[in-house]
Amino acid sequence: MTNKTCEVHQNHKHEHGEHCGHTKIIHGDHADYLHDGHLHHKHLDHYDEHRLEVNEINPDHCQPVIHEDAHIHGPGCGHEAVPHGDHTDYIVNGRLHHPHGDHCDDHGPVETEANPKH
Ligand SMILES: [Zn+2]
Ligand SMILES: [Zn+2]
Ligand SMILES: [Zn+2]
Ligand SMILES: [Zn+2]
Ligand SMILES: [Zn+2]
Ligand SMILES: [Zn+2]
Repeated sequence: MTNKTCEVHQNHKHEHGEHCGHTKIIHGDHADYLHDGHLHHKHLDHYDEHRLEVNEINPDHCQPVIHEDAHIHGPGCGHEAVPHGDHTDYIVNGRLHHPHGDHCDDHGPVETEANPKH
């Protein structure tokens, strides 16, 4: 079997599934698991790395959004990081936020599904 399009995530010990605790992201016709800023897609016996495409729904332009607080996104900021195109965005109220200079850009909506641990 040829698998040219697979970007295999190596050494993945965690088995994603219902109630694994990782938020699900609706990505086209499937759902991926958000894990430490990566989108993991179960594929046969391994996980692929997925990233959200830059398109009309999720453009990567500069579209400043106003934060009610002076929040600066970064590792551990409390928002989930998600790969989008060639950069990383943060999910805030169902929208992609991209830190850009002194503001955040709005990179469009993203559909998430809570996947709480039992
Ligand atoms: Zn998981
Ligand atoms: Zn995907
Ligand atoms: Zn901007
Ligand atoms: Zn944040
Ligand atoms: Zn983005
Ligand atoms: Zn923001």
